[in-house]
Amino acid sequence: MRKLFRYLNWTVSVDRDREQVHLFLCEGEEEDGTKCRADSGERPDFESARGWTFEHIRERQDHRSFAHMSYTAWHMVPGREPE
Ligand SMILES: [Zn+2]
Repeated sequence: MRKLFRYLNWTVSVDRDREQVHLFLCEGEEEDGTKCRADSGERPDFESARGWTFEHIRERQDHRSFAHMSYTAWHMVPGREPE
């Protein structure tokens, strides 16, 4: 037995069956210079994660710098399945 390999036209695209993840991280500093690093936690939608920054600024009005990190799952799809 031997497998037959042939050229397949691959495309790479967002895998909509897997959830996106968004996280906002506070980059503000405490008075001693240490980074706050409080974060929104991983959330499936951008607006919810961004909304956390407004909660945080209510508690820490001197923390005004944030980072946004996101995860998007991608997958490779062959033009047609190998035989
Ligand atoms: Zn903070």
